[in-house]
Amino acid sequence: CGIIGCVNPDGGTREVLMNGLANLDYRGYDSAGIAVADGGIEVAKREGEIDRLQKQVTARSDTLDGPAGIGHTRWSTHGPPTDANAHPHTDETGDVAVVHNGIIENYQSIRDELEADGVEFVSETDTEVVPHLISKFRDDGADPQTAFRRAVERITGSYALAVVFENHDTIFATRDGSPLVIGVDENAAFLASDVPAFLEYTRDVIYLEDGQFATLRSSGVEVTESDGTSVNPSVTTVEWSA
Ligand code: GLU
Repeated sequence: CGIIGCVNPDGGTREVLMNGLANLDYRGYDSAGIAVADGGIEVAKREGEIDRLQKQVTARSDTLDGPAGIGHTRWSTHGPPTDANAHPHTDETGDVAVVHNGIIENYQSIRDELEADGVEFVSETDTEVVPHLISKFRDDGADPQTAFRRAVERITGSYALAVVFENHDTIFATRDGSPLVIGVDENAAFLASDVPAFLEYTRDVIYLEDGQFATLRSSGVEVTESDGTSVNPSVTTVEWSA
């Protein structure tokens, strides 16, 4: 039950994600996965130990590397531990990928509504409504950030969410009731459920508050309140030894 994310124009994202997942394994998990936006989105995910994911990642012919990526260790609440239920989850066309920790309480009514519109779900998770909602708002003409906000407005429950879009070197994230911390570096940005996940890369962190949104780019991190007003986040240097 952990999230990791990295925006790094120099590449090496895949390694950051896989190291981050390994560093988060003390939080417990039953499945793991990563998604990398390198133009299109590539996803690898597996039920079971991170070793199984690592084998899949190594065996794949695509690079699974690129300027922005997200990773997840799952502690299943809705749907058993299976490859299909592992995160990241995508929309039907694979243009957006989402990782989520927590529980979306009103997912069933949203799922019913989307299925009535013809959307096909491939997992039993509460999480999968999020990429489909984002995709619906994208189809209505919203930009990625607005589509993400609109989707989050629809859900209730507890969540830390991180999202990547095709052709965007950006991670969009928010939290309410589940932890999410951001790491800033000169030319890269990180996010995770807990600091040890990216401590080997940076010690400068922003603790995102409940309801806040963050946009991570290699050029910097933008934080806003849920109503869109911008926040000047305080950056703390953590003293922990890795
Ligand atoms: N509720 C989601 C699921 O069951 C996320 C669980 C988690 O926090 O890992 O897939």
